Amino acid sequence: MSSAAKGAAAVALVVAIVAGYLWGRSDERAGRVAPLTETASAKKADLDVYYPRTEPLGRNEMRVVALGTGMPSPRPKQAAACWLVELGNGDKFLFDIGAGCHERLAAQKIPYDFLDKVFFGHLHVDHMGDLPTFWLGGTTMNRLTPLRVWGPSGGTPEYGTKHALNLMQEMYAWDIGTRAGVIDFRGGKLEVNEFAFDGVNEVIFQENGVTVRSIPAVHGLDGAVSFILEWNGLKFAYSSDTIPNKWWIEHTKGADIAIHECFLPSVLLVTKQGFAPLEALNVGTQGHTSPEQFGKVMSMTKPRLAVGYHFFNDFDTQPEVIRRVRKTYDGPLALAVDYMVFNVTKDDIRVRMSAVDEEIWPSPPMKKKNPPDTSKVIPFSDFTKSGALAFPEVVQPIYDEINEIYDTDYEPMFK
Ligand SMILES: [Zn+2]
Ligand SMILES: [Zn+2]
Repeated sequence: MSSAAKGAAAVALVVAIVAGYLWGRSDERAGRVAPLTETASAKKADLDVYYPRTEPLGRNEMRVVALGTGMPSPRPKQAAACWLVELGNGDKFLFDIGAGCHERLAAQKIPYDFLDKVFFGHLHVDHMGDLPTFWLGGTTMNRLTPLRVWGPSGGTPEYGTKHALNLMQEMYAWDIGTRAGVIDFRGGKLEVNEFAFDGVNEVIFQENGVTVRSIPAVHGLDGAVSFILEWNGLKFAYSSDTIPNKWWIEHTKGADIAIHECFLPSVLLVTKQGFAPLEALNVGTQGHTSPEQFGKVMSMTKPRLAVGYHFFNDFDTQPEVIRRVRKTYDGPLALAVDYMVFNVTKDDIRVRMSAVDEEIWPSPPMKKKNPPDTSKVIPFSDFTKSGALAFPEVVQPIYDEINEIYDTDYEPMFK
């Protein structure tokens, strides 16, 4: 911003504050100020902002929350791909769980036992990088229900979901070893469901009136897919990553909400992202979907609402993305940023932003906790034990305090 523009912005802000103050004062003088209690009881349905855990879903309503709309390159404003779908029947689904999205998910204040179903479209780190933190960190967020994960096979077994997640569980042996005998670790169980990447509109999940199908995507390597969720007459389509392809065109037609990647224009990949021109063209049109291609796809499928994601959505990039999308598509459009919320019913699709608390604590457990399974305790070696300083004069009173409050008789491990 130039200094002149900054000056103008500052003046505008001051004018707005003064005008707001005078407006309030003149109302007060006229005796029109509403009592605080009335203000505080404003109807929730009228709120322009979504406050997580304050709005029950309607029985026929679907809520979609953008928890990651960015790129593999991290930034505070946008995490990598993650979308939460909540249904009026109580079911909740995560589509992709990319790096950086977990804190945004935690900010939804949903008890983790309800967040037990994750579908990812491919094994890029910006689509599954926060799976370990959600899986293992989730056990400290009071998840007591096993985590169920669905992901595609690869062109050969070593590129498939099962192989990746088996290795992930081996990789975190130390982490699991520290927790399994110390806390109720039922939520650390991982159920891995690999489905064929080349299934076309194949059902991969069907429970409780909800059907999830996969279609192949064209992205990276064999082993990338897109998803279609249907429930109660509503259809949600999610591309994960793909260039335009025939399966998406054929099977997502008329979706109520279609979320499709919409990459930065190649010229901005050069100027903003630092790509070489050929890299920008390769990545921006042959590996991903440019805004013009995105518009074409949406013109051919005509969803009730087209949502573009997977680009750094700023004051200076969004106008250019819109300009290019509008060359090929003139229907309903939203360009997502993190915390955008979509309330979808047959009659309406409402788009708002969330306001979230920075100071999140775990939601309470939904089941009674079991005592830790002490058979899983891995003892320290004598060497490590010999280095511990027990400080009984400060630790014993802490035990005494807990034992008195909770009527227990626990004793410190280090004495
Ligand atoms: Zn990808
Ligand atoms: Zn991606």
